[in-house]
Amino acid sequence: MPKLFADRTVPARCPFCRREILPPREIKGGQWYDFNGGYCACGAVYAHDPTARNGGAVLLQAMLMACKGDMERVLSLSSETDYDEGHVQKYNGERHKVEPQAFGTLYFIRLREEAE
Ligand SMILES: [Zn+2]
Repeated sequence: MPKLFADRTVPARCPFCRREILPPREIKGGQWYDFNGGYCACGAVYAHDPTARNGGAVLLQAMLMACKGDMERVLSLSSETDYDEGHVQKYNGERHKVEPQAFGTLYFIRLREEAE
């Protein structure tokens, strides 16, 4: 059985534009923002679920970030016409890498009107 020594980790990239993203960090300015997240240059936002158990709450935070904290706007959005959702799975937040054995997830939201 040959051993593979290649580094199987890859950088975390935005699923929409394939840019490498910055490490998620604390999001200021909202009581709802319990998770670390960030903003991509293409207009996408992302939030990090480090446990793989918070999915819905993390996704909601990403939607709120995309709508600049406007919950009414979040509730008015339709996934078919207004935004796209993407995921980066197997994300290790401590190393900021995608790894085969990691189990965190990054949730991405990009409003179509904000897209480049
Ligand atoms: Zn992007």
